[in-house]
Amino acid sequence: MNNSVSIHWFRQDLRLEDNPALHAAQSNSLLIPLYHYEEDIDSNDEIGSAGKVWLHNSLVSLNNSLNNKLFITKGSITDEIFKLISKYKVEKVYWNFCVEPWRIQQDQALKIQLEEKGIDVKIYNGSYLWSQNSIKKDDGTNYKVFTPYYRKGCLNALTPRIPLKKPLLNLVETNKHSLSIKDLQLLPYKDWYESFNNYWEYGENGAQKKLGIFVEHGLSNYKEGRNFPEKPYVSRLSPHLHWGELSPNQAWYAVENNSSEKNIDHFRSELGWREFSAYLLYNYPSLQKNNLQSKFDRFPWNHNHNYLDSWKKGITGIPIVDAGMRELWKTGYMHNRVRMIVGSFLVKNLLIDWRHGESWFRDCLLDADHANNSASWQWIAGCGADAAPYFRIFNPITQGKKFDSAGHYTKKFVPELKLLPSDYLFNPWEAPDDILIKANVKLGDSYPYPIVDLKESRNLALSAFGSLKDASNDSK
Ligand code: FAD
Repeated sequence: MNNSVSIHWFRQDLRLEDNPALHAAQSNSLLIPLYHYEEDIDSNDEIGSAGKVWLHNSLVSLNNSLNNKLFITKGSITDEIFKLISKYKVEKVYWNFCVEPWRIQQDQALKIQLEEKGIDVKIYNGSYLWSQNSIKKDDGTNYKVFTPYYRKGCLNALTPRIPLKKPLLNLVETNKHSLSIKDLQLLPYKDWYESFNNYWEYGENGAQKKLGIFVEHGLSNYKEGRNFPEKPYVSRLSPHLHWGELSPNQAWYAVENNSSEKNIDHFRSELGWREFSAYLLYNYPSLQKNNLQSKFDRFPWNHNHNYLDSWKKGITGIPIVDAGMRELWKTGYMHNRVRMIVGSFLVKNLLIDWRHGESWFRDCLLDADHANNSASWQWIAGCGADAAPYFRIFNPITQGKKFDSAGHYTKKFVPELKLLPSDYLFNPWEAPDDILIKANVKLGDSYPYPIVDLKESRNLALSAFGSLKDASNDSK
C-alpha cells in the first residue's frame, strides 16, 4: 500500500459490502469515508420526513461499522470536498452514480472541477443492475414498455455484477473535523417516527437479516403471495434498497437456486420494475412533475382539500383505503397492493392530481424514492409510460374481499371495525343496523361515512378520463 489518500463519498449506497466505488477507492489507499448531507440541492423536498428518519439511523449504523470514522459534512459539496482535499492531500474521489436529475447535473459539474485540479474521479454503478444508458431498442431508441425493456433489453444485456466482498479499510483519522450525525438534524418530532422502530432494523445488518428471512420464508410463495398485504411473502427490502444498505445485485443473487423458477423470476422482475423506474427518470428527468403523456395536462383535476386531507389521515370511510393510509403513517411503509388501491382511489374516485399523492408518499414513506414513486404514481394515474389504462379503476370493496378476505390487515389498522363480520368489513355503510350495533360501529361517529359514492365517482372518472381519449396518444 502506498500513502495516497482517497475519498469514498457515500450517498444512496450506505453499505460496505458490494460497494464498487468504495472497493475501488480503498485499493492501495488510505480512505476517508465521507457522507455529505445535500441540503444545498435545489429540489422539491429532496428527502421526505420519513426518509430523514431512515437516513439518520442508517448513518448511525454505517458510522458504527466504520469505528466512528465516518466524516460528515453539509453545505456545499464542492467546498467540503476541496477542504478535505487540501487538508489530507487527497488524490482520488470516487462515488456511486445516483439517478436523480439534479444529482446527475451536480456530479458532472463537480467531476469537471475536481479533474481540473488533477484529482482522479470515478463514478461507478453501485445502485442498479444495469446502467440506464446501456439498454436500448434495436433501433437505438429507448423502451417505453416494461416487458420488452426487461425481457428483451435487460435480460439480454450483461449479466448483473456478482456482489463484491466487504473490503479491508485503512481509514484516515479525521474525527475532530467532522460534524456529528446529530448536527444534520434529521429527526422530526418524536411521537410519529418512534413507532417505526417496532417494524424496522436500520442499516446494512438489518438489510442482510431481512434478505435472509425473505429467502427462507417469503420467496417460496412470492408470485401469488405477494398480493396479500397480511401475508409474509413480500421482502420489505425497499427502504434498504433505496438507501443502498443492500445492493440490487445482492438481492438478485441471494434468490438464485432458492425456490422454484416462477418465484425467482417474479421477484427478479420486481427488481426489474425498480430498474425501469430509474430508466424512466433518467430518460425523462421531469418525471416527478410532468405527465409523461401530455394529453393529461388538460385533465380536470378536483382541487378538493377536504378529500385530500381525509385521504392523508385515513378517514375516507373506505376501510381498505383507510387501513393503507394508516399503515403508512404508523410504519412508514405500505404494501404494494394497497399502494395501488389507495392510489387509484385518490386519482380516480376523488379525481385528485397524482402529484399530491406522490408528494404525501414522498414525505411519509421510508422507501420514498424519486424514480419508483413518480413512475408508480404516473402508472396509477394512467399518464405514465406503460401505464394502467384510465378505465382500470380499482374497486376497493372487491379488492378488500379478494386480498384481505379474513380482514386481518384492515382490522389491524382500522381497529374500530374489528368486530364487523367480513361480509361488511369493506363496505360498512351497506351493513344492516343490527350488525353495526352488534359490532359497536356508529357510522358518522366511530367511523366515517364514505366521502364519495364509489359508483358515482367511478362514472365521473370514466367520463373525465374519456374526454382525453380522442386527443393524440403522445408521449413527451
Ligand atoms: P417486494 O415485492 O419484495 O419487491 C422487491 C423489490 O423490488 C422492492 O423492494 C422494490 O425495490 C422493487 N419493487 C417492487 N415492486 C416495485 C414496483 N412496482 N416499482 C418499482 N420497484 C418495485 N417503491 C419504492 O421503493 N419507493 C417508492 O417511493 C414507491 N412508491 C410507490 C408509489 C405507488 C403509488 C405505488 C403503487 C408503488 C410504489 N412503489 C415504491 C413500488 C412498490 O410498492 C414498493 O417497491 C414495494 O411495495 C416495496 O415492498 P417490498 O420491498 O416488500 O417489495
